[in-house]
Amino acid sequence: MSGLRESTLEGLNRSVFDVLVIGGGIVGSRVAFDAARAGLRVALVDAGDFGGATSGASARLVHGGLRYLGTGGFRLVRTSLRERDVLASRVAPHLVRPMPFVLSAAEGRRSKCAAGLLAYAALDGFKRPLPRFVTPEEAVRLVPSLRVEHHTSHAVFYEAATNDSRLVLATVAAAARSGALVANYLRVVDLDQGKVSRVSLQGGEGTFTVRCRALVNATGPWVDLIRKMEDPGCGPIVRLSKGIHVVLRPDEEWRAAVAVSLDGGRHLYAVPCEGRVLLGTTDDEYFGDPGSVSAEPEDVSSLLEMAKGFLRPQMLGAGRVISAFAGLRVLPRGEVAPLYASRDHLLSVGPLGMVSVAGGKLTTHRRIALDALGHLPADVRPRRLSLSDASLVGASPVRDLHSRLDDPAVDHLLHLYGASATRLLGYAGEIPDALQRITPGAPDLWAQVYHAIREEWAVTADDLIYRRTTLGLRGFDTPEIRRRISRLLEGGSAAPPPDISRAPRSA
Ligand SMILES: Cc1cc2nc3c(=O)[nH]c(=O)nc-3n(C[C@H](O)[C@H](O)[C@H](O)COP(=O)(O)OP(=O)(O)OC[C@H]3O[C@@H](n4cnc5c(N)ncnc54)[C@H](O)[C@@H]3O)c2cc1C
Repeated sequence: MSGLRESTLEGLNRSVFDVLVIGGGIVGSRVAFDAARAGLRVALVDAGDFGGATSGASARLVHGGLRYLGTGGFRLVRTSLRERDVLASRVAPHLVRPMPFVLSAAEGRRSKCAAGLLAYAALDGFKRPLPRFVTPEEAVRLVPSLRVEHHTSHAVFYEAATNDSRLVLATVAAAARSGALVANYLRVVDLDQGKVSRVSLQGGEGTFTVRCRALVNATGPWVDLIRKMEDPGCGPIVRLSKGIHVVLRPDEEWRAAVAVSLDGGRHLYAVPCEGRVLLGTTDDEYFGDPGSVSAEPEDVSSLLEMAKGFLRPQMLGAGRVISAFAGLRVLPRGEVAPLYASRDHLLSVGPLGMVSVAGGKLTTHRRIALDALGHLPADVRPRRLSLSDASLVGASPVRDLHSRLDDPAVDHLLHLYGASATRLLGYAGEIPDALQRITPGAPDLWAQVYHAIREEWAVTADDLIYRRTTLGLRGFDTPEIRRRISRLLEGGSAAPPPDISRAPRSA
């Protein structure tokens, strides 16, 4: 067990917290950050890795959601557009970067497309650059694999894209820096004696109890399971819908994302991301265990089949598919098909005061967190609550790193770490291979692995391959890389973990 984890577990065992936040996705980590900044004593725990569930399986867009205009979601779109701009300009400019989007439509839909974009621009305050129609040649220049035979109208507008797992990690880091105690791989298994003030946690190190004055349940698809711990008779407030993405290897660099509308209100999109393309998505009601969700071969083949309508066949062949992953949207209960269900978040306060919050969007996570904090019991709730645009770790201006690294490595580190990239360079003084690439095909460096193990709570090889670096997304989850990373992880936990269930507890 690393020194960081050991001291965190000791702290969890010893202290009484104002708030225990259950779930370290984007929502829970933001709740922890804002609560800690407001002066509360905060603990944040996740059953798996931070960002390891829905928040690491998104389309990575920070966007207004043009599609939601079709279902009357004007308020959500306007809020999301504002959030997009604040995240990209102040909260995490290194991680949330502008991205052009091509909207392709069949000829008969040009006027509908124009009306939608006009409404979108109006909700965005007619900020420049305004949406504009472009020629098919310009559309193909931006999206080299685009088929322009069926979709003949093409408009360009601007959104933003992020690295979702790293955005979660940056938020967790900000929470920790503001005083929160944070631990992954610690599952809430019960409320001790039915009280929200005593919560039983289980991790690889054993089972123990954390004491707190208030609880926020930010467990996304698991929200109803945790609600039942407080109120075994309560009915569900959410239903789940599965969305998958297929990761494709393009043969040329994409300069823009692309979206098309299909009959029946469905839409497909493809988003360039770390040199790859994410093709999405599906929207099918899901009834299984949230922990078992996966992209099944039939999901993948049906998505690839539908994509044939707007992407060239060469882009969709078997050799182009790197991997696929699935996530679960949390939607309000009701009869309406998942595609048309509201994308607003859901909040409920249980009989013992536990605040449960789920759903919404990655883009709107600051507002969701604020809503959750505003529903804490009065004796815990911070006096003044407002939407903070405080920067995350790494968001400040950056020193030039070019003297030590090549252009792709510099861009890569600045994107993922911002100003904190200079910390990674520091590993070179201590570890000879720190600035060497892990594999020639990706810009990820060994320094990222050392940093993730020491300071970013990485516990498993998956944490490193899929969430701390870009290796997994780029298709470098190889046995050799896994073996080398696992060896480094073992080095950090050579001593047997103490049994914290028997650790002494002070008042
Ligand atoms: C396919 C898809 C694409 C999407 N694309 C976008 C997009 O492009 N842009 C956008 O803005 N939004 C997007 N979203 C929505 C966005 O991803 C979610 O709204 C957001 O990630 C939800 O975050 P969360 O923190 O509520 O949940 P989660 O990220 O699921 O976090 C919940 C956490 O709770 C933990 N947990 C569960 N049970 C316990 C327990 N007993 N003890 C401790 N911890 C527990 C889990 O391990 C998990 O980490 C997408 C969603 C899907 C499904």
